[in-house]
Amino acid sequence: MSFEALGLHATIVKAVTEAGYTVPTPVQAQAVPAAIGGRDLLVSSQTGSGKTAAFMLPALHKLVSAEPAPAPARTPAQEAQSARARGERVRFTAAKPKMLVLTPTRELALQVTTATEKYGSYMRRIRAVSILGGMPYPKQMQLLSKNPEILVATPGRLIDHMESGKIDFSELQILVLDEADRMLDMGFIDDIEKIVAATPADRQTMLFSATLDGVVGSMARRITKDPMVIQIASSSNRHENIAQRVHFVDDLSHKNRLLDHLLRDESMDQAVVFTATKRDADTIADRLNIAGFAAAALHGDMHQGARNRTLDSLRRGQVRVLVATDVAARGIDVPNITHVVNYDLPKFPEDYVHRIGRTGRAGRNGLAISLVNHAENMNIKRIERFTKQLIPATVVEGFEPKRSAPAARTSTRPGGWKPGDGRNAAKPGQRSFSKPGAPREGGYNRDAAPRGPSSGAPRREGSGGGYRGSNPHPRSFDGARRTFGDN
Ligand code: ADP
Ligand code: MG
Repeated sequence: MSFEALGLHATIVKAVTEAGYTVPTPVQAQAVPAAIGGRDLLVSSQTGSGKTAAFMLPALHKLVSAEPAPAPARTPAQEAQSARARGERVRFTAAKPKMLVLTPTRELALQVTTATEKYGSYMRRIRAVSILGGMPYPKQMQLLSKNPEILVATPGRLIDHMESGKIDFSELQILVLDEADRMLDMGFIDDIEKIVAATPADRQTMLFSATLDGVVGSMARRITKDPMVIQIASSSNRHENIAQRVHFVDDLSHKNRLLDHLLRDESMDQAVVFTATKRDADTIADRLNIAGFAAAALHGDMHQGARNRTLDSLRRGQVRVLVATDVAARGIDVPNITHVVNYDLPKFPEDYVHRIGRTGRAGRNGLAISLVNHAENMNIKRIERFTKQLIPATVVEGFEPKRSAPAARTSTRPGGWKPGDGRNAAKPGQRSFSKPGAPREGGYNRDAAPRGPSSGAPRREGSGGGYRGSNPHPRSFDGARRTFGDN
């Protein structure tokens, strides 16, 4: 896949090639053709995945393709000058940008402007300017008087100019909201609504956000038309505010006792417990209720009304422990969820990432605990290989497993599978609890993909099938980022 193949104008391909981009990133490969085709986009993908080019390349392409015959565009400043020469009274002519990019911060706006200059370096007559708080007013007026095609702005300052008639959005074709979730976190929602309302209804809208859940999602759907939703599962989403642990258990009764203990933790506010099956979700929720927890089940067999009631009770804090299946719990955005417990491991590593993302919402800290037996060590390794993070095995006093954690757990290489790991599983006498933050040796070992249950360990229900995919982010891109990283 090349940039030409995405349908981009030759001048743009030349500029990105010069910037050292050889292949489009996954988000670019999906977003660029759709955006050239005029689709609205809702995109969530991790930081550093190349979102700026994902919206700016197709936008530049469209602006340059739509360019009419080169009747030299006269800037408002020139107009004003000749009007003055004709002895007319000069009113300020409002700038009429064709594209607007809203960003939460000045720094980000400047980054977007710089990237735009880079991507458009072989295009004539396309100007991008940033309108930012903190910039001297005369400077902003001077920038606007050049009638730039592309405006990159933070919402607050833009509103000021709009309200004083310095900007006219009647010719706007493309609206981009970059890091929309952060703009909402920063309280820009009213400003954004006002700006969006001032733009033509037939504009193309592209919204980028770390999450498309909750408030962002509902705004996103309000301001876009039949959007294409692009969500790139982030294998290396670090989830830095979420501590992850594995607790080894000997059997089901050990697992249940440990679960009850974890849910009594003082630091726990609300928790989501994940099970592999709907039946288990019901059974465990019942058992927890009898044990005195305010628990409720959530799964796909429940009627929508019942699901909504459960989610409302969770949001209101009446339910403290939600016992859920993967599909039912997708997208739950409740800030007080401090704990996620994997009672069963998910089938696919992507689901693990979605699960633990139910905690650590709104910038808070979270704890994600997986309760596993020794036979499941391989599944943990698959998850580690996917997230490129080690999940330390720890023990809770009074709940020590009879067998110590597999020796391989002490390996500080996430996913560093070596032949024989499975067989080493419980080497006697080996202390094996790695501490969180233990030093790492080596890196991500991509040749280590295990093929099926070769260790001879029995396969457990609910984890069969295994994980088919591999790292969705080719290494070549990671490498390129390191070379050209400028953010
Ligand atoms: P995001 O907005 O998703 O966080 P950016 O658009 O800021 O990501 O891009 C991150 C970095 O990756 C930048 O340094 C950018 O120049 C670089 N980059 C973007 N696309 C590519 C590509 N196709 N190949 C190599 N580097 C790229
Ligand atoms: Mg970005």
